[in-house]
Order: sequence, then C-alpha cells, then structure tokens
Amino acid sequence: MYDILIIGSGPAGLTTAIYSSRNDLKTCIIAGTMWGGQLMLTTDVENYPGFEKGIQGPDLMSEMWKQAKRFGAEIIFEDAISVDFSSKPFKIKTSNKIHNTKSVIIATGAYAKRLGLESEDRLWGKGVSACATCDAPFFKDKDAVVVGGGDTAMEEALVLSRFAKNVSIVHRRDKLRASKILQKKVLDNPKIKIIWNSIVKEILGKEKVEGIRLNNIDLNEEGNLPCDAVFLAIGHKPNTEIFKGQIDIDEHGYIVAKDQTKTSVDGIFVAGDAQDYIYRQAITAAGSGCKAAIDADRYLQKL
Ligand code: NAP
Repeated sequence: MYDILIIGSGPAGLTTAIYSSRNDLKTCIIAGTMWGGQLMLTTDVENYPGFEKGIQGPDLMSEMWKQAKRFGAEIIFEDAISVDFSSKPFKIKTSNKIHNTKSVIIATGAYAKRLGLESEDRLWGKGVSACATCDAPFFKDKDAVVVGGGDTAMEEALVLSRFAKNVSIVHRRDKLRASKILQKKVLDNPKIKIIWNSIVKEILGKEKVEGIRLNNIDLNEEGNLPCDAVFLAIGHKPNTEIFKGQIDIDEHGYIVAKDQTKTSVDGIFVAGDAQDYIYRQAITAAGSGCKAAIDADRYLQKL
C-alpha cells in the first residue's frame, strides 16, 4: 500500500515524487515504458531556472529522477493500463500487478500531434519543435514556419515574430480556425505571412531543418520553401484515456481540476500538462507537481 502513487514521470510527476518521498510518504512512480516525458525528446533547455548555460532535456530529467530516488521513491518502468478510483484503496493496474494506494497524482502529460512524416521525427529538436516559448530564441533572424490554423498556431507565430526574420504560417485550408482577435494580431504583423491551402509533404535537411516541401492542394502544385525551423501547432492530446469514466475530463480530454490540483474524486490529484493546456512548460509542470504533493499530503493527514 502506497501513500502516494504517481502516474507519469515528466517534470510534474518527478517533482511530486521529490516532495512526497522527502516528506517520508511511501511514494511510487509508475514511470511508463518510455519514462521522462516530452523533455526526453528535447535537446537544449535554456529556460529552466538553475542552469546558467542550459541543460539537455534528458539530462534534466535524469537529475530530477536521481533527486527523487535519493529520498526513496520507488519506480516502476511499466505503463498504467487501467485504474479503479471507485473505492478505497485506489487501484492502478500495470502489466504485471495491481497496485494499491491511498492517493494518486495523475501526471501523464500530453503530446503535440505530429504530421506523420519520417523527416519530422528525424529532425525533432534540430529545427522541428512544438513550443515557440521554449525554442523561438534559437531562431533569431532566421526563417521559421508554423503549421496549423488554430489559436496555438497564431500564438506560436506571434512569439516567433519577436525573434525570427520571417514567419510563414502554413495552413491546409483557406480559413483560419483561430479566434478573430488572434487572427487580427497575426494579419497585422508585417513579419508573418500565411500560405493558404497547403500541406507540408516533407521537412528538408539532413542534420538540421533547411526547408519544407509544400503541396498547394488547390493547384496541385509542389514547391520548396527554405526555412530554418518548423513549429507544429496542429493540436495537443493529453494522455488521459485510461481515466475516462473515473474522473471528470473535458471535451478535449484534459482532466478538470478545481483548486489547482484536485480532481472530481477526493484523493486523486492532477499535475502538469494532463490538465494544463495554457502554459505547457517544464517549469509550470514542475510547479504544479509541487502543489499536488502538498495537497495530497494535506489529504493524507486527514485520513
Ligand atoms: P486546434 O484548435 O485543434 O487547431 C489545430 C489546427 O491545426 C487547425 O487549424 C487544423 O486545421 C490544423 N491541423 C490539424 N491537424 C492537421 C494536420 N494533420 N495537418 C495540417 N494541419 C492540421 O488546436 P490548438 O490551436 O492547439 O487549440 C486547442 C484548443 O486550445 C482550442 O480550443 C483553442 O481555442 C485553445 N487555445 C486557446 C488559446 C487562447 O485563447 N489564447 C491559445 C491556444 C489554444 P483545420 O482548421 O483545417 O481543422
């Protein structure tokens, strides 16, 4: 029986683990078969406080993991397959076992949807990104492309326009999905242009992004656009499938949180991108992991 069982091992989950294991609570992390979350796919992280010269994403996660382990957190490198929050103790099933726990922190994160191109996987972190707040400063005075026509694409383009020389938004239709206010900001920005009715067929470059191959679906014409960076903004998906029917989840799949970390079931808490579709930063995920650990501790004290 654990006091706190954490599902997910990105910055939110590992920060919860540091706080709760250091607080002498019996803590276990179900880390997943691919542990560490989105930062494991990132290269330079320059905006996480405490690293003057920046740090590689996997190195940052490894440091967090060692810090949690130092205080005795257990780790299980398996995926959570199903959960039962209908009675206490709560039950989490992995491939080998059912784990009992007094409280749960959901820190399963989210992922940026991808176009499904081989070149996008190969060049991820080498010019392909899904976070302008994280990576736009690497492309000062360069040419950047944003793919998508929603609010995120507009915001990514606006952030990039403060650094890049030119920003091209590639959208597959002739109308933006984004809110009118963000559309106006984009259309009024002289650095941003929109390439309509176009699909990215390939991201070009061997070691780093050098351009994209575009298909204009109206004219059925292909052409290359040189660029240094491609920011995908075609939506995010939270990893919350296994919680459906157990706790409240909104229409986009994000877990509904009240008072910051509390879910609709007493004793089940949420941290990080599984509930946050606004900030999506390592530091905000870590901060919410800390809050969830404190809230779970207060819950346990009352049992
Ligand atoms: P979204 O609204 O789902 O928009 C995704 C965009 O990507 C759409 O324009 C879509 O094209 C395009 N797209 C999807 N799959 C694609 C593919 N395979 N290839 C090319 N294009 C593709 O996602 P989002 O912009 O991330 O926003 C998610 C939610 O968060 C929305 O409710 C949004 O309003 C909200 N949000 C709000 C703010 C804000 O208020 N400041 C900021 C960010 C996000 P189509 O239009 O053709 O479908």
